[in-house]
Amino acid sequence: MNIILLGPPGAGKGTQAAKLVEERDMIQLSTGDMLRAARTSGTEMGNKVAAIMDAGELVTDEIVIGLIREQLEGDKKGGFIFDGFPRTLAQADALGELLAEKGETLDAVIEMQVDDEVLVGRVVNRAAEAVAAGKPARADDNADSMRVRLMEYYKKTSPLIGYYHAKGDLSSIDGLASIDDVAGAIKAVLDKS
Ligand code: AMP
Repeated sequence: MNIILLGPPGAGKGTQAAKLVEERDMIQLSTGDMLRAARTSGTEMGNKVAAIMDAGELVTDEIVIGLIREQLEGDKKGGFIFDGFPRTLAQADALGELLAEKGETLDAVIEMQVDDEVLVGRVVNRAAEAVAAGKPARADDNADSMRVRLMEYYKKTSPLIGYYHAKGDLSSIDGLASIDDVAGAIKAVLDKS
């Protein structure tokens, strides 16, 4: 089973993906994690995207599609969870083509609906928690960058809601419920997909 978790930054996609990895042996494909890893290891691509990421803007479709293409070559275990990808219509088309080439299907697109005010609070909190735990906060977890990330979401990513709705793949859930209730809502969608 291959699924997309769709929602603005701070909606809880990563938290829910981690649960699915544990409970269903799925593989989480987070382009944000892959890009952060490229930065940490100092690859040419990592250096190129650093400033774009810190500003909260999207990196090019070509880069993230390339990252996903590589990952689809590996073991698929219980299926892929696309987390933070696709973020543009071009990425969504590319994902459809990559899956078709592999003889794979997309089984569900789960939109996690949340409220902007709560999102800004969540990312500012995530930064504070990281600092309290002695870890570096994500450079893009601050109010300025968050505003850009939200605008990028509305301009470039939210059209995917209509795109997947038209394909009959979309299920929307309340992302403001507790972590366990959100997990339960995701389970209900997967059980009927
Ligand atoms: P995330 O961890 O998903 O919030 O991603 C962090 C940052 O990485 C984003 O703000 C973008 O700069 C970049 N990024 C991650 N995934 C994508 C994507 N699918 N398309 C473009 N940029 C992305």
